[in-house]
Amino acid sequence: MKVIIIRYSEIHLKGNNREFFESALVSNIKAALRGFRYEFSRSNARYVIRNFDEDCTENIIDAVKNVFGVHSLSLAEEVNSDLAEISAAAVRMAPASGTFKVATNRADKRFPMPSMTVSAEVGGDILQANPTLKVDLFAPQHTVNIDIRENGKTFVYSQSVKAVNGMPVGTGGKGIVMLSGGIDSPVAAYMMAKRGMTLRAVHFHSFPYTSMQAKQKVLDLAKLLTKYTMHMTVDVVSFTEIQTAIHEKCPEEYMITIMRRFMMRIAERIAKLHGAGAVITGESLGQVASQTLESITSTNSVATIPVFRPLIGFDKDEIIEISQKIGTFDTSILPYEDCCTIFLPKRPVTKPRLEHVLRVESALDVDTLVENALANIETVTIE
Ligand code: ATP
Ligand code: MG
Repeated sequence: MKVIIIRYSEIHLKGNNREFFESALVSNIKAALRGFRYEFSRSNARYVIRNFDEDCTENIIDAVKNVFGVHSLSLAEEVNSDLAEISAAAVRMAPASGTFKVATNRADKRFPMPSMTVSAEVGGDILQANPTLKVDLFAPQHTVNIDIRENGKTFVYSQSVKAVNGMPVGTGGKGIVMLSGGIDSPVAAYMMAKRGMTLRAVHFHSFPYTSMQAKQKVLDLAKLLTKYTMHMTVDVVSFTEIQTAIHEKCPEEYMITIMRRFMMRIAERIAKLHGAGAVITGESLGQVASQTLESITSTNSVATIPVFRPLIGFDKDEIIEISQKIGTFDTSILPYEDCCTIFLPKRPVTKPRLEHVLRVESALDVDTLVENALANIETVTIE
């Protein structure tokens, strides 16, 4: 019978927490497999999928390999622990050409033959079936694996698909990701989900200055992220009143600096409302004027919870590469305006001094503006 073996990583190092990690991992794998027919079981330190539709093999492997915490997968044949059956499966699994070896693991010590002997016997049968193959024990191109389990069954497989690794979503606390329509913030979300965070997103838009398509683009990105985050809820916050107030009352070169501080305050309030312990941004040091150390200091100083910036040391090229890999790039580059592009100062301050920022900001009724924004949130739950 064809089965899919799922191996997990890092998480088995967690000792007493193992149960907590495993239950998150299992429920995430099951969520990724919603819609497929299959049977799922645990067998020490791995999971096995049986009775699935063989036409869906690729799709199942693709879905599971994106679940954080999964280390690798193999399509295997499960046979009775009987040398003739094992060997027949190994012959079917053998490569068509090149060099190979057989590697046997005997967890069931009642099996009457030592591992080395099984490998030698099966290797002989494979060669007999295909004499063009060559054995290479030290640097083979292919390895046929035989795993003799305690339960009288044996897995035979020849290939492993690498999965994403990381920690299961749900084991790393909860964070609010500030999701713009750009390239960076979806990547930042991905990176924190990879470390096990449960995410919720906040997006600021400035309707009617920014269009409905600009907002839809962010919802589309959130939808693409659910492949990794499992689910996603986006709080869409209207930023128009705040931007208008800043535009009217503050020197234009401080527009972005002050805007960022409002965004951070609101994101933190939303975090507290939903029991989240961190805010996540897509900032990368020095990328633009608002991402110098001084600008980040000014934004950070309104936050009282940790702000995670997983891209802080990444080059744009590296961020783009991840964004392509995770499938958000094509949506991120669609040309819709972002709220940061309206009232854009010709010469933004690149090194805002905090005392100066505070003086400029004192022209505004910060508390009321924040409360108004929080009172008008549109919450969108992505299925
Ligand atoms: P991105 O590619 O993520 O848009 P960026 O390079 O355009 O980032 P900025 O515009 O300086 O950089 O934004 C820095 C970070 O601030 C973003 O990564 C995002 O986390 C947050 N941010 C910016 N604009 C918004 C917005 N309209 N809604 C929510 N978060 C935002
Ligand atoms: Mg942006």
